[in-house]
Amino acid sequence: MYRGFAASVLIVLCTTGSQAMTISRTKVYEDIRAAIVDAEAGFGLGGKVFLNADELRADRTLRAMKKNELQSSDRDQPVAGMHFFEAKSLIETSAVFNALKLMPKGAILHLHNSAAVSSRWVIRNLTYRQEAKLCNVEDRYYFTVRTLNNCPENQTRPIRDMRKERQKDVVVFDEWLESLINMKLKPSRAGHATIDQLWMDFESCFDAIRGFLQYKPFFEAYHRQLLQEFHNDNVYHIELRTSLSKLFDGDGKEYGPVEVAYILHRIVEDFRHQSPTFHGVKLILSKHKNITDKELEGALKLYESLSTSFPGFVVGFDLVGQEDMNRSLKSFAPLLLQPPIPSGPPKYFFHAGEIVGYASEADENVIDAVLLDTKRIGHGYALIKHPVLWHAVRRKQIVLEVCPISNQVLGLVRDLRNHPAGFYVSQNIPITITSDDPGFWDASGVTYDYYYAFMAIAPRAGIGFLKQLVWDSIRYSSLSDAERQNITKIMEKQWALFVREMARENRARN
Ligand SMILES: [Zn+2]
Repeated sequence: MYRGFAASVLIVLCTTGSQAMTISRTKVYEDIRAAIVDAEAGFGLGGKVFLNADELRADRTLRAMKKNELQSSDRDQPVAGMHFFEAKSLIETSAVFNALKLMPKGAILHLHNSAAVSSRWVIRNLTYRQEAKLCNVEDRYYFTVRTLNNCPENQTRPIRDMRKERQKDVVVFDEWLESLINMKLKPSRAGHATIDQLWMDFESCFDAIRGFLQYKPFFEAYHRQLLQEFHNDNVYHIELRTSLSKLFDGDGKEYGPVEVAYILHRIVEDFRHQSPTFHGVKLILSKHKNITDKELEGALKLYESLSTSFPGFVVGFDLVGQEDMNRSLKSFAPLLLQPPIPSGPPKYFFHAGEIVGYASEADENVIDAVLLDTKRIGHGYALIKHPVLWHAVRRKQIVLEVCPISNQVLGLVRDLRNHPAGFYVSQNIPITITSDDPGFWDASGVTYDYYYAFMAIAPRAGIGFLKQLVWDSIRYSSLSDAERQNITKIMEKQWALFVREMARENRARN
């Protein structure tokens, strides 16, 4: 493509004669234009990926589907330009979406456990268990099993009894319950809410579900469902951010973080046994950014004890929460640089740049994340405003964990065709596509996010882009060399099946 570009420029320099010049200038203009388009496609993410004969056929299928869907819109804009809450049912009828659903997605590198399972499953399963209760304090509602500290016993009722009273409109009652943990069902979805209001609603979902996930039987059922939903979506490895909060069981016995990690480990091993193509899970200990220095010290010590007890399972540390409203990474830097633990700083996987502001300490979290040697950046939405860092991120191969629907639902960008990841893709800055908290916005798995990545963020891209994303998700994971070999075997087989299916469609269309 670069040779073509140079040849076109040469023609301009060599052409003489006015008529010949007019004809050749048009031709030259077109040639140069095509060469620029080709050069840009080759430079961007996935542009240099090798494609075999089947992949080239699959590429033609996917590009034809994509073109058709991007052009044949009887609405003002293609589905890819719509908000997920309005677009979801349309996305589900899309041929591209159904192809992406089939595609093996490799690893998911950014997912919070307590927001990962679809809200519908929580309502249809956990709230129908006899232990399920609902507590009401000052117009706020919390799912629970035992009496919460912040909720007096006389304000806590079995959900079963409440449902019996609503026998005539159980569907409405269940939808109301679901609205406690689903942003789509909250009033702020109307589109005029500020980012702070959206975050208040978002945090209220975590507060609402917390009581259920402290109860060991619910915690176990929920995490089995988490693995099932992601595996159904052709995900083979998950890196899960979790606080490993205390659990209790039906006898009142309590379980601390080390025991909770052990419970999760056992659930994962059981699931792998049942589903041999599922590779596994790793944990990133995550604490809220509203903690004190003393609490951070405790969290770093906990990380050390967990990573010693579960080497290769608990693999890193992160700080989470709304960046504008909480402490900055800079404010924690002395402790994060020199934590009071003999093994030195953990591997960091910081959330950073999940904001729209500029020139604030929160905006500069991306600078601190890079200086603190983060292995990946959660979101990195604001990185686009830090040109010095683009090069550092590329040179140090720090991947950006891009969560398109999360950024849309939490108000950073309305139309995902404007998401800065489009720039990162064009600049060949490594990204991975992931779903953050899909259970809280009426999604499940990660295919909806892949749909927006393919249709809105990289509308010109073909299968080379997808292949790069999928294999980069393994490359930038925390898997050991031996684990990489295992998952690569699974992925190569699944990828070949997917490509063959797409290539067959190409033959059927022709
Ligand atoms: Zn996150």
